[in-house]
Order: sequence, then structure tokens, then C-alpha cells
Amino acid sequence: MPEPLSPGELLDLDRQHVWHPYGPMPGRTAPLLVESASGVRLRLAEPVEGRDELVDGMSSWWSAVHGYNHPVLNEAAHGQLERMSHVMFGGLTHEPAVRLAKRLVDITPEPLEHVFLADSGSVSVEVAVKMCLQYWRSLGKPRKQRLLTWRGGYHGDTWQPMSVCDPDGGMHELWQGVLPRQIFADAPPAGFDAAPDEAYAAQLRELIGRHAEELAAVIVEPVVQGAGGMSFHSPGYLRVLREACDAHGVLLIFDEIATGFGRTGSLFAAGHAGVTPDVMCLGKALTGGYLTLAATLCTADVADGISRGALPVLAHGPTFMGNPLAAAVAEASIELLLSQDWAQEVKRIETGLREGLAPAAEHAGVREVRVLGAIGVVQLDHEVDMAAATRAAVREGVWLRPFRDLIYTMPPYITGDDDLARICAAVCAAAREG
Ligand SMILES: *Cc1c(COP(=O)(O)O)cnc(C)c1O
Repeated sequence: MPEPLSPGELLDLDRQHVWHPYGPMPGRTAPLLVESASGVRLRLAEPVEGRDELVDGMSSWWSAVHGYNHPVLNEAAHGQLERMSHVMFGGLTHEPAVRLAKRLVDITPEPLEHVFLADSGSVSVEVAVKMCLQYWRSLGKPRKQRLLTWRGGYHGDTWQPMSVCDPDGGMHELWQGVLPRQIFADAPPAGFDAAPDEAYAAQLRELIGRHAEELAAVIVEPVVQGAGGMSFHSPGYLRVLREACDAHGVLLIFDEIATGFGRTGSLFAAGHAGVTPDVMCLGKALTGGYLTLAATLCTADVADGISRGALPVLAHGPTFMGNPLAAAVAEASIELLLSQDWAQEVKRIETGLREGLAPAAEHAGVREVRVLGAIGVVQLDHEVDMAAATRAAVREGVWLRPFRDLIYTMPPYITGDDDLARICAAVCAAAREG
């Protein structure tokens, strides 16, 4: 056994050697050291602000929908571990990947038919883009290689995804002039329930029509834009995109990496609009937050187009493609979700968030409070003071990770009413003090 390290030693080594998301090196603010997690609680290695346990308000970035250390998911992982944790996917296949792919085809909208199992959300977006570009090449239209999206989006941190993230607000401004130049529409007008704005719909149609010759695909996050600003829009715009893409011969990609598996109240956000994209990306909650795995689904038409090319294969194949351990847990997680009245749980959380976050609207410095499904957002009229907001939440016994002007929560679906009330109190406290 290696020598145990004290919390102090671990944090020192962390600061010296370990990058964190969007972090400086060496780190400037000490992260909290988590020792274990169970249900909706993160257990800290040493108390912070008098708390040795925090209720998780983040589902580890949309992923841990069933909470931590779940007996059903643990069993799926243990069972698969005893058979094999990984084998290569070139020339070999296995039950976990086959079963998962079939399951995904069954639960996603028709006619999505084929599944590429990638290692992370960003990679699944790379694969989606590659599918679309290759499709048009195969059909003898190699000029169709640009993407169109709306502002305010987030699609991941690798190269193609970065090129369709919000070009102004995000961290990717830095790369202007280096990334492929894509086409941006204005951000969709806010409000899930707002009637679609006809002038905006016309802008979408006009841009798609004008650039059709060079457009491979339109890519958007349906209904909820996540890390780009936590905003909600009318599902009506998805129908506008579908119609305009069909009219002008452009493929449509929905990035459901954040919205998939019930978070917005519909199993997939596309369901709010009754629209099926040509390509769909899934990730985050796919394995219930246990392991890294993502999937890119496409229609038979897309796959068929690719297979008619000079290179009749999809030229992508990561080392850990179809990882059996992740696939087995993903199937168990989907089973677990569908075996319960998840829609009722998401509704219950939505109601709890609406009630619990309403008081935040009264605070000076709060611009808007909005809730959709199991997502609650308090937008400030200023950049949040991360340290103060985090401290305020921890003092309430809750883990939150605000960014920009946003304090938000997307709790695990198993969060009980008392813990939910505590999360809401923490968001309000963070909004007051951040
Ligand atoms: C998180 C996210 C991604 C990137 O997924 P990673 O697994 O972090 O690479 C892409 N698109 C959306 C909508 C996301 O929320």
C-alpha cells in the first residue's frame, strides 16, 4: 500500500501539479478535497466552513442524475469489471456496447438509427461534425464544410466544438483567427414559453438559405443553452431550423449532451418540439455520472451517404471506443431511469426550484430567476464573486459552482424535498453574497 497522504499534503501536490478545468497553474484557490460521495452528499476530507458533508447541487455537471454510489450502478460496474473492463473495438465487439446502442436507438426519436460510442462529449461533437462533412464529400459537394449555429452556445473544448461555442462571451475568444470561421445567428430570444419571434425565425431561414452552398450542418443545443449562459428558448425555433435545413439541403445536429435523459422534463429536449435531427450527441448523464462516455447517433440516410464516398467508412476510431465498463453502467443507468417515474421526479424538482428560488428575485443585484425541468438559474446583474458565492453555499451545506453572472443548480433527480429546500436556500445565499 502507498503511504497515506494528509489532506494538507494532497492539496499542496494538487496545487503544484494538477490542472483543473479552466484553471491557472499553479492553482490560486484551493479546491475542496472530496473523500467519498453517496446519495446526494459529497463527503469532505476535512471540514470547510464547519461542514464535512455537502448536498450536491450540480450533479457533477449534469451527469450524476441518480446520485452517487448507487447500488444498481455499482453492481453493473462490478459485474462488468469481473468479465472485462476493456477490449479494443476494432474487429471485436461485446454485449455491453451492442445492448447500449440498441437501447439508445429505441429511446431516441425516430429515425436515428446508428450509434458511434465516443469517449467524451467534445469528441462526440467532433464525430458529429466529421459525419456531416464526410456526408457531403461523399455526395460530391465538398464545398459544404462550414457550420451554422446561434450565439450563446457551448459544444465542448476540442477544436471543432470550440469553433461553434459563443464567439464573444466564452473562453474561446482567445482563438479567433485560429479556429475555423463558422456562421453565427443571433442568440435565440429567451423564454421556453415565449411565442416564437417571427423576425428571428426569418433571420434563421435567411442565413441558412444564403449560406446553403457552403453549409454542411446547423448545430445547436435544443431548448437549453448550458455552459454558454444557462438560457432557455422556445422549442418552436427547432422546428424552424428543421424546416429550413430540409428546404436548403443542410444537415441538423442537436447537441443533447446536457439536456439528454430527462433534465428539461422531456427525455430528450428534441421531444419538446417533436423534431428529429439528422445527428444527435449524448453524453454527461449517459452513464449516470460514473464513467466518461458519449454517443453520436445518426440516421440511416447520413450513414448511407458516408458509405457511398470514395472512402466509404467513417474515419474515426478512438482507443477506448465502446468501453465495456462504461457501456454496461450506461445501460444500467438508462434502465434505472426508465424503471421509475422520472418525469414526475423532474416535475417535483421543478416545482421545488420555482418555490425555493423565488425569493432570490427580490435581492438587489439579481437580474432574473428562471427554472425549467430540474434546472434552476439565478442570473445576477454583475460578475459573480466566486469565492464569496461558493463560501455562502458551503456555509448552507451545499455544493454549487457558479460562473460568469450565473448561480445555478441542476440537482440529482433523487434529491429529497428537504435537501432541495437546502439547495434553494444556498442559491439564494450565494446570490446575496456573491
Ligand atoms: C459538457 C458539454 C459538452 C462537452 O462534453 P465533455 O464531455 O465535457 O467533452 C458539449 N456540449 C454540451 C451541450 C455540453 O453541455
